[in-house]
Amino acid sequence: MNTLAPRPSILSVEPYVGGSSKLPGVNRVIKLSSNEGAFGPPPGAIAAIERAARDAHRYPDGGATALREAIGARFALDPARIVCGNGSDDLLTLLILAYGGEGTELIMSAHGFLMYDIAGRWAGSRVIKVPERDLVADVDAMLAAVGARTTMVFLANPNNPTGSILPQAEVDRLRAGLRGDILLVLDSAYAEYVERPDYDAGAALVDATGNTVMTRTFSKIFGLGGMRVGWCYAPPAVVDVLSRIRGPFNVNLAAMEGAIAALAEAGWIEKNLAHNSEWRARVTAALTEAGIKVWPSEGNFVLADFATAAAAQAADAHLKTRGLIVRAMGAYGLPACLRITIGAADENTLLIEALAGFMAEHR
Ligand code: PMP
Repeated sequence: MNTLAPRPSILSVEPYVGGSSKLPGVNRVIKLSSNEGAFGPPPGAIAAIERAARDAHRYPDGGATALREAIGARFALDPARIVCGNGSDDLLTLLILAYGGEGTELIMSAHGFLMYDIAGRWAGSRVIKVPERDLVADVDAMLAAVGARTTMVFLANPNNPTGSILPQAEVDRLRAGLRGDILLVLDSAYAEYVERPDYDAGAALVDATGNTVMTRTFSKIFGLGGMRVGWCYAPPAVVDVLSRIRGPFNVNLAAMEGAIAALAEAGWIEKNLAHNSEWRARVTAALTEAGIKVWPSEGNFVLADFATAAAAQAADAHLKTRGLIVRAMGAYGLPACLRITIGAADENTLLIEALAGFMAEHR
């Protein structure tokens, strides 16, 4: 008799099928659904990845030493306090494996990044989603949700998919209000896009507290989502734990070389940031003008609110017939919304035209 049974909570997770850039019958697909960089990979990274192919028979450096040193130099951080992963998803999952699990509770905001919920279920943690205020994490509500079993609190700042950001004073207040045995995970995947002067991606809090971790990624502004490279900056005790449970070669050779080259690409962040600010404002203004509510965003995407789920679905279908893929937000509990990545100039222009046309037809 077959009595195989996984941890029951695993079966509450749907298999992930996102990321596709194909639409049946459409020649030119414009993918604005995964918050990928608008300019593709940095040219230096492409060359480095090609060079790395020649050594593809060799295992990579299991300690990711050169990459950690390059990250440390770029962001003025101690490389010994950096752990790299197969995307930051890998690190989020490892953190939950280490500090979550059966009998624990994880806290996130209602429309926080879904990976916390997914990986929390993998591990058997109870995931508590705390109501927000106007799609912004509510520190008081998060603190009120803490119980004896709480071991982790997750905050993406800026948050995906809402684009919202918590002021630094609020992030500090969240940390200060949490017990010392609760790990605060500051997910700063979109840090490089933020222009607010008071913004700190998390390193200061990591240094000041000893129970806070900052996660980062090469998938967004550095244009390497397909390479799967993320990293975290953590207190020594957390670095030690992650070093014990991460896969020995959890960042592959091409990914490592590509990421190092991306960090060295002159002017890359500045160019992407300028493009993103300009086009995020233009897309926001144009969609607002067309009658769509656009939530304020600090990331490389905007959340467009069509007021009803039916309208969002119709808009999504309208975009698909024109080859434009955006992200429906039903899984995030925002069925009236579509999340739209800021792409290249011509892609944004097509998106604006298509949505303006949709709104004109549905007035
Ligand atoms: N955190 C947030 C907030 C994200 O939006 C994403 C990407 N969608 C990730 C983490 C994971 O990114 P990656 O695994 O590609 O590093």
